Formats: sequence, C-alpha cells, structure tokens
Amino acid sequence: MSQDKFKGLVIILDGLGDRPCTTLGNKTPLEHARTPVLDAIATQHQSGMMNPLLPGLPVDTHTGVSIIFGLPPRVAASLKRGPIEASGIDLDLQHGDLLFRANLATIENIDRHNFRILDRRAQRIQQGVDALCASLQDIRLPDNISASLHPATHHRCVLRLRGPGLSDKVTDTDPGGKMLHTGVLLAQPSGDADTASKRTASAINKLTHVSNEILKNHPVNLKRIENGYLPANGILTRGVGQYQNYQNILKHLHLNVTVVAGEATVLGLAKLFNFSNVTNPAFTSSTDTNIKKKLSTAVSALETSDLVFVHFKGTDTAAHDRDPQAKSDFIERFDKALGGIDISNIVLGVCADHSTDSTRGEHNGDAVPILIHNPTGRKDLTRKFNETDCSAGALVNLTAQGFITSVLDAMGSLSNFKPAEVKFYELNQ
Ligand SMILES: [Zn+2]
Repeated sequence: MSQDKFKGLVIILDGLGDRPCTTLGNKTPLEHARTPVLDAIATQHQSGMMNPLLPGLPVDTHTGVSIIFGLPPRVAASLKRGPIEASGIDLDLQHGDLLFRANLATIENIDRHNFRILDRRAQRIQQGVDALCASLQDIRLPDNISASLHPATHHRCVLRLRGPGLSDKVTDTDPGGKMLHTGVLLAQPSGDADTASKRTASAINKLTHVSNEILKNHPVNLKRIENGYLPANGILTRGVGQYQNYQNILKHLHLNVTVVAGEATVLGLAKLFNFSNVTNPAFTSSTDTNIKKKLSTAVSALETSDLVFVHFKGTDTAAHDRDPQAKSDFIERFDKALGGIDISNIVLGVCADHSTDSTRGEHNGDAVPILIHNPTGRKDLTRKFNETDCSAGALVNLTAQGFITSVLDAMGSLSNFKPAEVKFYELNQ
C-alpha cells in the first residue's frame, strides 16, 4: 500500500456520549474514566463532536450506525428494523419484499372477524418455534401475495410478504409496551390510504386469520395447552420496511469492508449492505464482552479489508441500566485494551452512534465525542477525549456522514470521488 493510502479502523462505542452524573461527581462516565490511551491519541491528532443525524435529534442504534456505515442520512432516517432483522437471519431477499419484525403471540377471537391479544410473546416461547414457522411457508394470500414466517430469537421472528404493489405504509399490529388487553388486532393503512397500502393491510389481516387457523391445531400448540401453557397461535407485526438496493458510499468506492460485532442489529446492517462480518460467542451485547479479542479480531480483519468497523454495545447497555459507574468502568477497560494494538500505520476513528444518558436510561440528541488518528494528518489543541474537551476540537460540529467522509479522506480513498456524480451528499441542506 502506498504511503498516501491507509487502511481504516473505525470503533463505534454505542451510546458513548452522556451528561454529568451526580454519582460521578458531576462528570460524565467518559470524563470520570481514566483513558490515557484515548487522551494520548487526542493529543497527537484531531478530536471533535459529531451529530449522528441532526443536532438535538435522538436516534436509534440502527439509524446512527447505518450512517457511519455509509448510508445517506435521508435513507438511514427511513430505514426500518424489518429488513435489518431479515438480513441478519440470512433470509433470501428480493427488491420490493416487505419485511416485518414479528412475534409469535397468543390471540383469541372476539367475534368472527376480530382478535384480541392475550400475550404479545406467547410466554416468550422458545421450544417449537422452528416447527411453528415451518408450517407458515409460502402462504398464498389474495392479490398474488405470498407470506412466510422465519425464526429469529425465541418468540421473535421475521415475516416476509412478497408480491406486486406492496407498501410499507401500514400500521403495526403489535401494540408494543402500550398494549391494552382489549385491543383489537388489525392492520390499517398509515398516512394516505392508497391502493397499495390498503392491499397490504388487507393481506396482513387475512394472514392473521389464516395463520391462526394453521397454528391453533399445530402439534406444538396442542402440547403447550396440554402442559398448561398458552398456545403461540398468532403473529404480531412491527418495524415494517421494504427491501431495496441501498445506496452506500463504501460500496460505491468498492471498499472491502468488515464489521466485527456481537449485536444482532449491527450484524444485520453489515449483511444488509453486503459487508463481511465476524462475530464470536465471546462478543456479547453487554459490558462482559471480550474487548481484547474483539480488537485483535478487528486488527486481523484489516489484513484482508480496506476498512474495518468494530462495535461495542457495553457503553449503551450500562447507560440503559442507569449505571454510569459500569459505563465508566467499561470505557476504562476499553482504553486499556486499545493500548495493546498498533495503530501507527492505520487511520483510526473513534465515534458513537448516539448519546445515551445513564441517569435517565435513554438516548438523547446530544452530540457525541469523536477522534480521528491520521498518521499524516493535522493536530489540534485537544488533550483529553471526553465531551467537554472534544467540544473545543477541530472536528467540532461534524455530522456522522461528515465523520465517515473524513475517515475515508484520511485513508486516501476519496481522491477520485466526485460528489456531484452521485446522490450520497445533500449539499444544499
Ligand atoms: Zn446505539
């Protein structure tokens, strides 16, 4: 590799940004943590603050990560979980397929036409899910639409509708946490009720009936009833999205990209964008993940890849658990492990997909601290890697798209790229 081209390693610390915590002496978990390695990199290179999508707007992991993974923000903002989950379980996908996250649930008839939900997760059914899904393959519905259900984790499945003129403008049948036991289970068009959304809602409602007929007499459910459990006799849907060939700047540049992760959503995104991915049972979605092994796996992946992303979920998990001390401890352990890898001849980016407030246990719209180590790049005056110090860094006010573009530029990957040729960048916003 010539001296003006570098390989890139981008580390995503999920939900890294935070606010001052009273239990940490009014410091953020990152400010509270001892991070000599990150601080030394910040001293030698450039740091700043990045807005995942728009200033002040909280985003989910899949939105924040997909922009860092090269998706245009406009596309990322409308990206739904259904296609990500479907990709994560290696489902065969065609342009136009409609994909839902689905639960196996317990439902009962109110009258001839309507159902109500008794248990959104059929008591979190685990045994027999594969057999139940196998009985719901290629179900023929009106308007030439076919449906099939595929197992994911426990009661969670993926529903695929395939056929002409489908629309993702339909409501969820899964009421989520807002569930009322008297709620009627019915999909409806959302927004303008055009022909495609009416047709799709009607197909989902037909499927609710057809699948209930098949599932209620399934041997798995007969056995569950015999043993005193609720039958998994219904399907609830949410997160609907239509599969498309996603515009992605990393693919446009023909970069060989690998994602190292343990979390299903991030691995699903990697597959959705046709990146290579590496996972391992030791890579968990919590603070107990094997940080050293993850980093050494990422460094090994650099041998065959131009750009490697490595994702750590522990920062976000600790913040959702409202445990700022655990978040701070995880950051310290990460920093120590980072000191064990040689970054002298690569571009290293450190970022986050969003901020997670560990006092309230939820995402917020605060900018996140970032840094870029470029062997031949500029320095700034930042001496510590945290929310306060990075606010005075050279890379302040970047968007996530600006961050990944800056990493690509540092790698020397953009020398022949003409933004006007493609619509990755909305230059007049
Ligand atoms: Zn996240």
